[in-house]
Amino acid sequence: MAFAKCFTSFLLVLCVFVPTLVLSDLSITSKFLEHANKPEVFDWMVGIRNDLHEYPELLYDVFETSERVRQELDNLKIPYESSVAKTGVIGYVGTMEEPFVALRADMDGLPIHELVEWEHKSKIDGKMHACGHDAHTAMLLGASKILKEHEKELQGTVLLVFQPAEEGGAGAGEVWKTGLLKEVKAIFGLHVAPDVPVGVVGSRAGDFMAGSGTFEAVITGEGGHAAQPHLGIDPVVAAANVIISLQHLISREAEPGDPQVVTVAKLEGSDAFNVIPNTVTIGGSFRAFSTIRHLRRRIEEVIVAQASVSKCNAAVNFFEDAKPLYPAVNNNEKLYDHFKNVATQMLGPQRVLEAPQVTVSEDFAFYQEEVPGLFFFLGIKNETHGEEPVHSAHFDIAQDAFPYGAALHASLVTTYLSDVLGSQGKQYPRDEL
Ligand SMILES: [Zn+2]
Ligand SMILES: [Zn+2]
Repeated sequence: MAFAKCFTSFLLVLCVFVPTLVLSDLSITSKFLEHANKPEVFDWMVGIRNDLHEYPELLYDVFETSERVRQELDNLKIPYESSVAKTGVIGYVGTMEEPFVALRADMDGLPIHELVEWEHKSKIDGKMHACGHDAHTAMLLGASKILKEHEKELQGTVLLVFQPAEEGGAGAGEVWKTGLLKEVKAIFGLHVAPDVPVGVVGSRAGDFMAGSGTFEAVITGEGGHAAQPHLGIDPVVAAANVIISLQHLISREAEPGDPQVVTVAKLEGSDAFNVIPNTVTIGGSFRAFSTIRHLRRRIEEVIVAQASVSKCNAAVNFFEDAKPLYPAVNNNEKLYDHFKNVATQMLGPQRVLEAPQVTVSEDFAFYQEEVPGLFFFLGIKNETHGEEPVHSAHFDIAQDAFPYGAALHASLVTTYLSDVLGSQGKQYPRDEL
C-alpha cells in the first residue's frame, strides 16, 4: 500500500467516540495490552521484525518469511495450514469449532533499495520492507501468542492469516480462492500509518481505500515523414486526444465528491524529431471506490473510440494476470462500531480517529468482497521514527507501536467471538473448513 502524506488531514479528524456496545469483559483490552508490553512478547516481536527486515522477499516468493512464521507457530503449538496460495500460512487458535473469525497480516516486501542506516538494514540489495509488512507479520505473531495463552477464553476459532503478495499480486484473492476462509464470519486487518502517532488508530465505515487498476494502450496508425503527415495516420495526435478524453471521465462523468483518479503516466512514441511513428503507447493507473469496474470499462471504451476518431486502432491491456484490479476497501458498519468500541476501551476516545477516504489501495479488499471485514490504520510515529511515507527508501517504524497492534488484533477477535457472535453457530470441526 502507498500512502504519501495523506495523514496530515487524518490527524485533524478527531472522533470522540462514546462506546455503545458493552463488552462482556472490559478488562480484556487492558489485559491484552499489558500482556503485549511484557518483554517476552514485545522483545520477541521486535526480534522477529528485525530478522524479517534484514531478508525481505517479494510477492509470492516469501519462502523464508513463511518458514519463520511456521517455526514460531510450531513453538507456540498452534496448528496451521501451509503452502496457502503458494507461501501463505493459516494458523488456528481457539475451540477449533464455529464460529470462525480471521486476522490477516501480509508478509511481502518491495523492490526498493533501503537507504535507512540502522543495525537491521536490509541485507538484500534492491529489496526492502518499505511498507511495514514485516511489522504486520510480527504483530500478528504477537497476537497469536496472546491468543494461545488465553485460548480457553475464546468462544470460537481464530484463523491467523499470513498472506503473500499484497504488493500488486492480489495475494488476498488467491488466499480466498483456496476456500480455507469460507466459513469465516468476520476478518480484521491493519496497516502501519506514518504521520500518525504511536498509540493512535483510525478507520472509517464504508468506503475507506480506493480500488486500483493499471492499463496500457497501443495506438496504431501509419508512420511516415514528419513533413508529410497527410500521407500517414498520426498516432501521436490520436494519443493526445485519448489522454484529454480520459481526463473527461473524471471531470464530466464522475460524481463530484466521489474521489476518482485517472493518471496517464507513460507515453512512448518516436525517438526522432522528423518521424511520425507507427504506434504510440500510453499507460497509467486509475483509482475509484464502488465505481472501479465501471471506470475500467469506460477507460477501454474511450481509448478505442477516441483513437478511431483519428483513424487509428487501439488495443488496451489491463494486465489482469500480473497486476489484477484491486477492489475498494469497504468497512462493514457493524465491524466498524466494534472496532471503535474495542479501540476506545483500550486507548481512550481521543486516540481513536475517523480516517478520511484515501486513494491508495489494499488487497484486503478481496476478503471484504466475500466476508464482512474491517481494516484500520495503526500509528507508528514518534519523535525519531515514522515520518517517511510507506514505499520510501527511508521508511522506518517506531517499534513501540507493536504492542498496540498485537493487543488490538487479539482484543478485536476475542470480544467479537464472545459479545457479537456469542453462542451462535453449530459445532464445526476445522477439517470441514
Ligand atoms: Zn505497500
Ligand atoms: Zn502495505
